[in-house]
Amino acid sequence: MAAEAKRVIALDIGGTKIASALVTLRAGEAPLIEHYGKVPTEAKLGGQRVLGNAIESARRVAEAAVGGLDGIGVSSAGVIDPATGDVTYANEIMPGWGGTHLGAELARELGLPARVLNDVHAHALGEARWGGGKDASSCLVVAVGTGIGGAFVLGGHILLGAHNEAGHVGHVSCSDATGVPCSCGATGHLEPIAAGPGIIERYLELGGDATQADGSPMDGAEIDRRAARGDQAARDAEARSGHAIGEVLGSMCNMLDPDCVILSGSVAQCGPAWHDAMERGWHEAVMPPVASTPVRSGELGGNAPLIGAAENVVRSGYAEFE
Ligand SMILES: [Zn+2]
Repeated sequence: MAAEAKRVIALDIGGTKIASALVTLRAGEAPLIEHYGKVPTEAKLGGQRVLGNAIESARRVAEAAVGGLDGIGVSSAGVIDPATGDVTYANEIMPGWGGTHLGAELARELGLPARVLNDVHAHALGEARWGGGKDASSCLVVAVGTGIGGAFVLGGHILLGAHNEAGHVGHVSCSDATGVPCSCGATGHLEPIAAGPGIIERYLELGGDATQADGSPMDGAEIDRRAARGDQAARDAEARSGHAIGEVLGSMCNMLDPDCVILSGSVAQCGPAWHDAMERGWHEAVMPPVASTPVRSGELGGNAPLIGAAENVVRSGYAEFE
C-alpha cells in the first residue's frame, strides 16, 4: 500500500520575497509543489506588515488547496525558536521582525498547526530528507551563495544548538582567510573569502574588470564564464573560494563523519576551477578514514526551504510519517 501523503502549506519568508506553496510529501516519491506564489516581503514596513503578508500568503494556498491539510510549515529569515515558532532575533534587513510570534499567529489565523524553522535550517532539512541526502542517515548540508550557511542533519533531525544558531559554516576559521575581517566582527572566517562577494572582490584585486561588456557590474556568473575561457584572474578568484570551502568541509567531516556532504547554492554551481580547488582543499584537510565521504550537489534548488519547512511539520508529531 502506498504511504499516506501529507499536505502542508509551506512559506519561505526572506528579506525581499515571501514564497508560498502547497507541498505534498509522500515517502518514496519526489515532493510535489503546487499553487506556488511569491509576494514582496515589504520588510522595511515592519514586522507586523511582514506577518500580515505571510498570513495572506498562507490563506491563498489554503483556498487553492482542495482537501485536508496537515499544517503550516514556515522557513524564515532570522533566529527562530523552533519549539515556540517565535522569531527571537532579526537583523536590520527586517526591522521589527524579531519578537514576532510567527508560529502562534499563523496557527491562530489559519486554524492549523504551524511549525517554524530558520531558512538555512529549513533548506538543509529539505535537502537532507528529500534531496541530495534522501538515502543518507546523516549529512552535512552547506549552501554557498551570497553568504555561507548550513546544518548537520542526523536521522532527519537538525542539530540546532543551544541558541538555535548551529550551522554557521561561514563563520568557521580557515587558513586561507587568516587576517581577513568578517562581517560578524571576527577575523579569519570562511565567508568573506569564499562566498560570492569574496570571489568578485578577489577578481578585482587580481586586476579583473569591474564591469561586464554591457556596462553592468561584474558578477559571479560572468567570472565563472571567464574562468571557463581560461581567464587566469577569474580562475584564481574561484580557486581561492573553492580551496577554502574544501578545507572547511574536510575539517568538518573529521569532526562529524556524515554519510555525505551536500553542497548547494550559486557558488557551488561554478566550473572546474572552483571544484578542482575544492577537492585540493578537501584532501589537504580530511583524514584518511573519512576521505571517501561523498560530496553531492543539492537537488531541490530554490524549493529546498519550502520542502524542509513542510518536512518539519510532517515529522514534528502533528502527523506521523510512515
Ligand atoms: Zn564571521
